Amino acid sequence: LLLSCLSAFTEAEYMRYKDPKKPLNVRIKDLMSRMTLAEKIGQMTQIERKEATPDVISKYFIGSVLSGGGSVPAPKASPEAWVDLVNGMQKAALSTRLGIPMIYGIDAVHGHNNVYNATIFPHNVGLGVTRDPALIKRIGEATALECRATGIPYAFAPCIAVCRDPRWGRCYESYSEDHTIVQAMTEIIPGLQGDVPPDVKKGVPFVGGKTKVAACAKHFVGDGGTTKGIDENNTVIDSRGLFSIHMPAYHDSIKKGVATVMVSYSSWNGLRMHANRDLVTGYLKNKLKFRGFVISDWEGIDRITDPPGRNYSYSVEAGVGAGIDMIMVPEDFTKFLNELTSQVKKNIIPMSRIDDAVKRILRVKFVMGLFESPLADYSLANQLGSQEHRDLAREAVRKSLVLLKNGESADKPFVPLPKNAKKILVAGSHADNLGRQCGGWTIEWQGVNGNDLTTGTTILNAIKKTVDPTTQVIYNENPDSNYVKTNSFDYAIVVVGEPPYAEMQGDSFNLTIPEPGPTTISSVCGAVKCVVVVISGRPVVLQPYVSYMDALVAAWLPGTEGQGVTDVLFGDYGFTGKLARTWFKTVDQLPMNVGDKHYDPLFPFGFGLTTKPSNRTEFIGLIFGDLEMFSRYYVEGCKDGV
Ligand code: BGC
Repeated sequence: LLLSCLSAFTEAEYMRYKDPKKPLNVRIKDLMSRMTLAEKIGQMTQIERKEATPDVISKYFIGSVLSGGGSVPAPKASPEAWVDLVNGMQKAALSTRLGIPMIYGIDAVHGHNNVYNATIFPHNVGLGVTRDPALIKRIGEATALECRATGIPYAFAPCIAVCRDPRWGRCYESYSEDHTIVQAMTEIIPGLQGDVPPDVKKGVPFVGGKTKVAACAKHFVGDGGTTKGIDENNTVIDSRGLFSIHMPAYHDSIKKGVATVMVSYSSWNGLRMHANRDLVTGYLKNKLKFRGFVISDWEGIDRITDPPGRNYSYSVEAGVGAGIDMIMVPEDFTKFLNELTSQVKKNIIPMSRIDDAVKRILRVKFVMGLFESPLADYSLANQLGSQEHRDLAREAVRKSLVLLKNGESADKPFVPLPKNAKKILVAGSHADNLGRQCGGWTIEWQGVNGNDLTTGTTILNAIKKTVDPTTQVIYNENPDSNYVKTNSFDYAIVVVGEPPYAEMQGDSFNLTIPEPGPTTISSVCGAVKCVVVVISGRPVVLQPYVSYMDALVAAWLPGTEGQGVTDVLFGDYGFTGKLARTWFKTVDQLPMNVGDKHYDPLFPFGFGLTTKPSNRTEFIGLIFGDLEMFSRYYVEGCKDGV
């Protein structure tokens, strides 16, 4: 008995890192003292879901797995199937000698956007318009719940790029061209992770338990400032510009306890960020005291050289040497493991650098409670695409719309539209297309064209749900003017815009709305009163068409809840959004940002017409005792001084 008591005691002592009552540093130190080089390098390695068999995870001690782009276990996989997938990998990680949990990450950048039936929120370009940090925080909370519903504890979000040139194919991932708006929107971080308690030191990551996820501020730094907006290109700017425009949102993210930071593919004045030791180690880790982990981008270290992978040894040395802790080596991970191992053995990469990386990764895993609760269950499954989250997304859509034109003059507004018209025409390539409404990073990396991708409401369906039952809604994607004239409509709603795209595939030097968009605008708006709704990831060329339109709405990439658009278009709510980007006249003005010397936009930064909720609906609400609607009218009316 004595012997077994003794051995139980030594066993308990032996596994100090497993004891949640021990201080964080003690746990980390204890665990690290037990780890072999292979186990440490495994922690630093993040591989793609498709590579992550249980054998691979346990053999190489893999620290993290990702779903890159739209990588899903099966189309339309249920939350339970996701939980099973993640748990399967986790069990493999737990079966290793030290049982260190792996962390699964995914690009949940506008809601849990890879997952069928998730709530898809507007992309950041629309959220910046709201200038409503409290709303953005609630979106973070909802996104965290939806990720956890599928067993996933880590989101590669938010993108805190300050997009300075809309030609960039990722401009829609940026909240604004103005860094102060981007800074305010870092409020999504406490939404995703929870509020940092006062006793947590600045820079120490904080993730508040099983309903929260680790966030990732990306892409460090200057990703939105590349020349001509070319993706992954060079950001040419002096230090003052970099630190005053692109860096401030990292300060905020760190104050808010962000767990991880992803490095940018882009370069700063010719040096690849993945090799920039001064900024990654010197500034982010030493000066800002960031204590979470730094993750590379997808094959980011390969892209240190041009062409990518030209000198892999150099890439590993430069990337890990710069201070990157977790390396996203999605597919060819054994090449990385072997190279890093050999460099450590040869002392090219010092052991202290490996220890720094591993300490940070373990810190995040401990802080998150992954050691205590590594496995997910199905208890949050009903959070995915819940009505509450869809209502929140609908609210976000309402607040993200910008009314750019409304009637001939302020006293002759065209919107809000009447709900009781006899006959209305709905036209345009984007009116009945959920995929186009959601944009890139939705189900597929590049987004999807069509309606079968996930569940949601297209703008056409939202219109049908909103108008009076007696109103005839005629849908014709691309009618000619004769059709419009002979059918004599009261008015038309034309919804056109950009196709979905992501990353460099979205870089554009002409920023035009592809045909038949412009033709639809001219044939419809030339023949009947019309409002044009533009679905796009950025300002696009509109100047030639604006004069035909009776009203013009920028709806950005609103996501699955199309009713947010009709709520405002038909006057149940007012238009409130203000441009968080400059709307240029012609592409040769670009880049053009607020504050520039020669500022001559079509619509300036901050512009946005407003409307009031139309009394009619509010009154009906009042008559039927709809208190929520009444209070909304009352409060908004008071705010507007009515
Ligand atoms: C993107 C990142 C993303 C990563 C993982 C990269 O191509 O630049 O933003 O998080 O892929 O999917």
